[in-house]
This record gives sequence, structure tokens and C-alpha cells, in this order.
Amino acid sequence: MYTLTASTLLKVWECGVGESSITRTLSLLAAAVPEQAISDLARLPIGRRDALLLTLREQLFGSCLQTVIVCPECHDSLALVFDVDQIRVPVESEPGEEFVCEVGDYQVTFRLPTSEDLLIVRHETERDAAKQLLLRRCLLRALHRGESATELPSPFTERVIERMAQVDPQGDVEIAVTCAVCGYQWQALFDIASFVWCEIAVWAKRLLGEVHILASAYGWAEADILKMSAWRRQCYLDLVQG
Ligand SMILES: [Zn+2]
Repeated sequence: MYTLTASTLLKVWECGVGESSITRTLSLLAAAVPEQAISDLARLPIGRRDALLLTLREQLFGSCLQTVIVCPECHDSLALVFDVDQIRVPVESEPGEEFVCEVGDYQVTFRLPTSEDLLIVRHETERDAAKQLLLRRCLLRALHRGESATELPSPFTERVIERMAQVDPQGDVEIAVTCAVCGYQWQALFDIASFVWCEIAVWAKRLLGEVHILASAYGWAEADILKMSAWRRQCYLDLVQG
């Protein structure tokens, strides 16, 4: 994975503002993994995409993840601190790989959802309709007692979706949380794509603030300030701010 410079990461952030979460995540990965075409990255199963994002996050900001979540029981805010390795799972699925599961009298062959699928499905405003569209895209074959079936009864579609999550666990990360205030325990969903993007937005705004202070004080160009290491920038900031 390519080490992103401050200038490149800032550009990715700027271009991603106003884009969907799926598009900006793909742009971020395309910058970090330039040997892979963005169309190939879009066809990675979500778990494989998120495994790359975890590696990128570790490279950019370290392995310790910190977030704040709200307890669904007492509504208190809780600080959650964990390591990248606690949510990293071995990813064995390959792009385009087919999986077979038995549900009732049906034998269903499916592939895992990708960013490309999510980009199409996001136009569906109804949650159920989006889920059905995603399933139709990923469902390759269905046999009912050995005969080709055109439709899968709805109770079985849920089972197929559950099976998809089981074979791609990195795409559906949950963290066991216990509320320190009321003791309530639950499994919290953790979306690495939104998390990393929020961190990049905070980093970018702080960096632009630093550029503003140094450019105002010394008259240096933005490009020259961005080329400095974070440590050197901080040394100058300390001098300017006394
Ligand atoms: Zn609580």
C-alpha cells in the first residue's frame, strides 16, 4: 500500500466532499493502491475493501481507534477505545467468488455484495426495496428441489443475507459493548468507511488551519508547507504562537 502524502490526502478529501460514502471510500483506496484500477476496487467484496481501509487507517493514524457511542438504554455517551487488530478478521473471499447455501428446499448460489452493487442500490429510497435489489444482483442461481427457480420466498431471502454476512465478516463488524453507567450490553455496528472519513475530515481542517497560520506568518506557499513533515510544521507553529 502506497504511503499517502499530506498533499494527496488533502486532495482526496477535497474531491470527496459532497460525494457518497461509497465513492469517496473508493477514491481514497485508489490513491493508496494505485496499481489497482478503481473499477477493480469497486468489485471487491465489502469485507475485502474494509480490510484495505483498516490497513490504510493504521498507516495514516496508527492502530488505536477511538470513538464515542450512545448507550441505547440510558442514552449516556461512552468513549470506546480499541485496536485495529480487535476488529480485523482473516478475509478469504475473492472477487467474483461463488458461495452456495441451502435454505429450506432451495439451493442458492450467490456472490458477495461489492461497492459497485452499493452504488446502484443507494438510489432505492425504500430500505426493503434496496435490500431486494442488492439480493437480486448477488443471487446467481436458485434451485428448488433441483429445478431452476425464478423467485425465492421472502423468509429465505433473509437467510441468504445472513449467510452473506457470515462469509464476509469483515464487511459487517460488530463490537461487544457494555455501558459503564447502566451496565447494558449490546453489539454495536462499526462502519470503518465512515469512521476513517470523519478522521480525515478532522485532520484536513486542522492541517488547513496550520497552513493558514504559517502562510500568514511567513508568506510560504501552501504546497511548500504541505511538503514539510508534521513535526517540522509543529516546530514552526510553536515559534509563531510563542
Ligand atoms: Zn447505559
